[in-house]
Amino acid sequence: MADPIIQMQNVSKFFGDFQALRDVSLDVANGERVVICGPSGSGKSTLIRCINRLEAHEAGQITVGGTTLTDAPVDLEKIRGQVGMVFQQFNLFPHLTVLENLCLGPRRALGLTDAQARDRALMYLTRVQIPDQADKFPRQLSGGQQQRVAIARSLCMEPRIMLFDEPTSALDPEMIAEVLDVMTELAASGMTMIVVTHEMGFARRVADRIVFMDKGEIVEIGTPEAVFTAPKSPRFKTFLNQIL
Ligand code: ADP
Ligand code: MG
Repeated sequence: MADPIIQMQNVSKFFGDFQALRDVSLDVANGERVVICGPSGSGKSTLIRCINRLEAHEAGQITVGGTTLTDAPVDLEKIRGQVGMVFQQFNLFPHLTVLENLCLGPRRALGLTDAQARDRALMYLTRVQIPDQADKFPRQLSGGQQQRVAIARSLCMEPRIMLFDEPTSALDPEMIAEVLDVMTELAASGMTMIVVTHEMGFARRVADRIVFMDKGEIVEIGTPEAVFTAPKSPRFKTFLNQIL
């Protein structure tokens, strides 16, 4: 691959005796959009959590933006600064307003002034189309709005890579589209994205490649066109039949 921003080589991850990732190898190009799908418990979350070192792997090598993740802890700050993550549960600070949620990281971790952080926060709130919600508290927003705030909060750190772990799974059906629209716009802007989702319409429209995982392994990787028209592995076929 010409310009990989993420390289995973033969990565294995154990929880005690249980092997959650088996010899996973995956390179992601700068600007690429990768969708990961697979049954519950197949290791999707574990894989992306290893990329920003929320989990530590035991074997193999992971390199993110030129930094190898077995390096000294000081480099982890660098990794986390480059890699934003959005979770199924929005993980906003409930006692802070939307604007305060967005300003916290840039002020503390990036050293922006209050005014700079505020300007940046309003810019990203505008980008996720809710600048009018800046002074509300998370509980006063719909789920879809909260998830858009969570995306804006990650973007305020100006990461090079965005990881999404089932970002629409906790949302009521009518709110899924507004979050996927924001993610589609982000993809069009050239952001490198890894998205764990079962939203196959989104995957088909936005993904450069789709990764199918089962039992801690990458079973199949291909373009949306290839995998949706002719999935190779029986396990992937079965999975697609269940969810489509
Ligand atoms: P997915 O996101 O595909 O549903 P996960 O990556 O969350 O799967 O989990 C993969 C497997 O690892 C599951 O069997 C899960 O129970 C196990 N696992 C995940 N996190 C932990 C943990 N912190 N301790 C023990 N087992 C875990
Ligand atoms: Mg998961």
